Amino acid sequence: MREHAEIVIVGAGVIGCSIAYFLAKKGYSDIIVIDKGGISSGITGICPGGVRQQWGTEINCLMSKAATQFYERINEELEPEHEIMFRQVGYLYLFHSEQAAQYYQPSLHLQNSLGIPTRMINPEEARAIVPGVNTDTFLSASFCPTDGFADDAYHVTNSFAAAAKRLGVRFILDEVPQILVEKDRVAGVQTGRGRIDCKVVVNAAGLGSKELAATIGVDIPIEPEVRRILYTNRIEERILEPLLISFEKGFAAKQLTDGTIYLSYLGSDMKPPYHSFNYQMKAAEVGMELFPPLAQVEFRTHVDGTYDSTPDHQAILGGVDEVAGYYQAIGMSGHGFMMAPAIGETIADTIIGNTPVIDITPLHLNRFRQNALIPEPRVV
Ligand SMILES: Cc1cc2nc3c(=O)[nH]c(=O)nc-3n(C[C@H](O)[C@H](O)[C@H](O)COP(=O)(O)OP(=O)(O)OC[C@H]3O[C@@H](n4cnc5c(N)ncnc54)[C@H](O)[C@@H]3O)c2cc1C
Repeated sequence: MREHAEIVIVGAGVIGCSIAYFLAKKGYSDIIVIDKGGISSGITGICPGGVRQQWGTEINCLMSKAATQFYERINEELEPEHEIMFRQVGYLYLFHSEQAAQYYQPSLHLQNSLGIPTRMINPEEARAIVPGVNTDTFLSASFCPTDGFADDAYHVTNSFAAAAKRLGVRFILDEVPQILVEKDRVAGVQTGRGRIDCKVVVNAAGLGSKELAATIGVDIPIEPEVRRILYTNRIEERILEPLLISFEKGFAAKQLTDGTIYLSYLGSDMKPPYHSFNYQMKAAEVGMELFPPLAQVEFRTHVDGTYDSTPDHQAILGGVDEVAGYYQAIGMSGHGFMMAPAIGETIADTIIGNTPVIDITPLHLNRFRQNALIPEPRVV
């Protein structure tokens, strides 16, 4: 059967569902969201929900600040079935050398100039925030108390979807093998069940976005990048409230609401496909050096997830020159969850023809064609 919608969104991850919600909220609810695996079945499904504003480019600071403000009021905004926990416990970045602390200074000034309350602290102040941290291993740290994490990404995404559905958005479980174009304009999408006519298509297909864009001749520079997360047993005591990160040691860890600690080793000496034992030993070694209480935990499981990374580790947002009615919100490069509310609203405004509150033109696909990349220095 041939169907019709004003707008089709391909991908029901946090990005597609956020865009659908904001479009519907702004009065455009004749939307079909299509996903081949269902809501949150892609990268979003394994995301641990970190939300930080400690970035090194203006656009990421602005987007993450706006998104943080959204997460602060998410329960009033989305009215989820049960409360979404947004825990603003901060992100703590450790600096082990003067050089690393100096290198962070421009990012710190940028964040402060945009109203993000990050501050440099000494090891004793860090210990007051995380009593278990080994103060012999670092010289200084940066701390932003309004950073945090949402528990959990699956629930957040489903809540975006549920709010969008209440406003009239339809969700379909199906694959889109082809976007249909007539006279350089979007005309619809092909699905397993037949054609859907529409004038606007939003590519929010995460790791499937490159292939989807290729069906209309748009070449996207996205590459998969595997990341491993280790999960421990549940610890009743709250021992690691802020997210603890060391860029220099390639380490990140935090305690989730249910008491589980997750940690990740990101050093360049470990490359996927990971050798499980070696990876676990390395993560444990670095983790226990920085945070000795990790000696008490048991590693229970691990998950390998994949980033959809671009050459400058920035998302690709907006339309394209060659096909009218085609928009994309892809290439999240490992930080799509924290940016999702801001991306949802700015893409919705772009489609509707409003001026977005944050100028997303620097993240247009053309930056790769014009060699105008804006590398983000604070990627984890
Ligand atoms: C290990 C790990 C840790 C992370 N930690 C964080 C974090 O702490 N904070 C943070 O902000 N981000 C984090 N991220 C990144 C974050 O999870 C992603 O950026 C975000 O979830 C991407 O959402 P998305 O909607 O773009 O993609 P997805 O969630 O992948 O959604 C895309 C959807 O499109 C569907 N699809 C694809 N092709 C088609 C097609 N042709 N037809 C129909 N459907 C299709 C897929 O089934 C999928 O459901 C992490 C990622 C990983 C891997």
